[in-house]
Amino acid sequence: QVRVRFAPSPTGNLHVGGARTALFNYLFARSKGGKFVLRIEDTDLERSTRESEEAMLQDLSWLGLDWDEGPGVGGDYGPYRQSERNSMYKQYADKLVESGHVYRCFCSNEELEKMKEIVKLKQLPPVYTGKWATATVAEVQDELAKGTPYTYRFRVPKEGRLKINDLIRGEVSWNLDTLGDFVIMRSNGQPVYNFCVTVDDATMAISHVIRAEEHLPNTLRQALIYKALGFSMPNFAHVSLILAPDRSKLSKRHGATSVGQFREMGYLPQAMVNYLALLGWGDGTENEFFSLKQLVEKFSIERVNKSGAVFDSTKLRWMNGQYLRALPSEELTKLIGERWKSSGILNESEGPFIDFSSPAIYFSVLHNIYGMTLCKQEALQLLKDGIDLVTDSDKVLSNLLSYPLHATLTSPEGKSVVEDKLSEVAASLLAAYDGGELVGALEEGPAGWQKWVKNFGKSLKRKGKSLFMPLRVLLTGKLHGPDMGASIVLLHKAGTHGVITPQAG
Ligand code: GLU
Repeated sequence: QVRVRFAPSPTGNLHVGGARTALFNYLFARSKGGKFVLRIEDTDLERSTRESEEAMLQDLSWLGLDWDEGPGVGGDYGPYRQSERNSMYKQYADKLVESGHVYRCFCSNEELEKMKEIVKLKQLPPVYTGKWATATVAEVQDELAKGTPYTYRFRVPKEGRLKINDLIRGEVSWNLDTLGDFVIMRSNGQPVYNFCVTVDDATMAISHVIRAEEHLPNTLRQALIYKALGFSMPNFAHVSLILAPDRSKLSKRHGATSVGQFREMGYLPQAMVNYLALLGWGDGTENEFFSLKQLVEKFSIERVNKSGAVFDSTKLRWMNGQYLRALPSEELTKLIGERWKSSGILNESEGPFIDFSSPAIYFSVLHNIYGMTLCKQEALQLLKDGIDLVTDSDKVLSNLLSYPLHATLTSPEGKSVVEDKLSEVAASLLAAYDGGELVGALEEGPAGWQKWVKNFGKSLKRKGKSLFMPLRVLLTGKLHGPDMGASIVLLHKAGTHGVITPQAG
């Protein structure tokens, strides 16, 4: 049976790299009808925290990556936190001492330091050269009787090569002569990371270890431990690094890198999952859009690329826009409403019709009329067209409601509109407004506007840019913006509800 695991260390946030590793494990398990195990690697007691663990679990759940065994759900192979498995590590370490694969090393730190210096001076490989690898039983008993602290050291074969067949990278092999006997348990009884991972993967019956490329050097040590314990080795698949656009390792200085940050910025989990899957994987066609369910159907580990994948936040943003626009109206409305509430744009307690000087009040008022029923096509369409992230909706609305006529007319681009006899259009527009035709047309909605604007253009012998530019500037105060008919109809509706009072530009 396929059993894979995601094994985060709870020492910070879940980063996109970790999330991608989790996703590939999840997809592999689900596509093979196997189990997806979550194991918390909290051996580093100083840096591991429960808050971090909880935040990681929450991020995984948000992405929709539910685990079959692990914290919160249990399972037959628990406990699923390394800090709760110490007795097991001790038991296997003792077993290895018995079989001679591991020996007790009573070297003090000073002795080890001295050894390192000599090795460096002689330009030898940095391997353990102390006496305990070959000590007699009597010598060991002597130190034990004295109560000298000791570590457990793994006896590495002094020659030969070790190779694995990585499912992504093919054959990977190492020379053993430069590795040196490594510690698997410290003198305070704390087992070392590589040892814990091996014991866990073996005793949790993990069939495939899918993890980041940076763990390859650990794989060598872990493979030796597997052999010594007589366990059969799992299959390994080391996924390439995630790179920044400049091809350096992705880090904080490149912007948001944690899943939580993206969630707070308003990203949708389905867009996030889709984008993460494309970091090193594709189904071999041009198609880039996959739901989690489709990913499960299409995923194969053989198609995972071994070269580094570039994390392109612009593309992720674009992809989020595609997902956002495809949401059913009610869902989008709800998201935008929640966003306005959390950003303070919507302040329900203040109610409508109070003070129109602050944009926040406009929003709150507009929301009262349209927000609850934002599925009103005009409003939703306007928002939709202008947003990739739900957080962009603030900007779109504030833009819609602003009337920066002065700034527009004095800008270089605006000057040409003024020169194009803006006053002539303004006079006719005012007449149409005073005469009630414009208002009448707006009452009929976007279609009424279309009809009116066509006739208005005819009467002025204007069309295209020379008709729409001055009209846009006069009606919205701006040179560019979303569809004018829809905006004006929307603003008009808000206006007739007493929401918007004309402002001086
Ligand atoms: N705990 C390790 C990490 O967070 C993962 C180790 C593994 O997957 O083997 O990088």
